[in-house]
Amino acid sequence: MQPHALIRCSWGASAVKNGKQKFFTCLFLLALAATAVYGAFSAREDTAALMNVSWSSHTVILDAGHGGEDGGAISLSGATESGINLAIAKKLDGIFGLYGVQTVMLRTEDVSLHSEGASTLREKKSSDLQNRVARISSFEDATLISIHQNSYTGGAQYHGAQVFYANGELSRPLAERTQNVLRETLDPSNQRTVAPVPSGVYLMNHVSCQAILVECGFLSNPEEDRLLQDSGYQTKVAAALAGAYLQDRCAISTEEEGA
Ligand SMILES: [Zn+2]
Repeated sequence: MQPHALIRCSWGASAVKNGKQKFFTCLFLLALAATAVYGAFSAREDTAALMNVSWSSHTVILDAGHGGEDGGAISLSGATESGINLAIAKKLDGIFGLYGVQTVMLRTEDVSLHSEGASTLREKKSSDLQNRVARISSFEDATLISIHQNSYTGGAQYHGAQVFYANGELSRPLAERTQNVLRETLDPSNQRTVAPVPSGVYLMNHVSCQAILVECGFLSNPEEDRLLQDSGYQTKVAAALAGAYLQDRCAISTEEEGA
């Protein structure tokens, strides 16, 4: 599968102007999002230039949760949540590059984003979250996708991705779409439904943009622990998140045209 070649022959140099064309563009991009699961994501800038569609003015902020001393949850096999979050965020960034979606990654390495003055772990964590909020708030027109992994200390029985959202109706449709695509792509038996983000999640409760937090699976479940560390599975998760986002932008774009 060579998505780059497909983009070139189907897209050409023509700009997408009218609604009908945009509709087919959406269909095309969604189909490509599905095939992107097994595609290669190397020629990012090359393809990004070809995919300069109307949503390129909108920024997607990718937040790989935790980092540095704060590894987040520890999996049954000893992997840290922060590393898995970052791996999925990087893959998502690569896939978005194929579509010309403008992205910002809050972290690209295994680091905490705290300011210099912070010394204790508690201070560093607090400073890290405040800095993430400040960065997110500096974008006028953005969507936040915060990536995390779930864990349950009481046993291994729980599994399945779940999407949380902030700012009510601004984000709920994207959360629903993401939950649906994750279910269809990863685990049709997953019965989990979207929910407003709990009040204790600092970052999500201090941003005003469209924002979802995705718990991609349970590190306390042996099967999901194994899968979430698998590069192919991480790509599948990332492609599902990208597909749902593109679907959402298409819906918003169509609504705006009809208004
Ligand atoms: Zn987390």
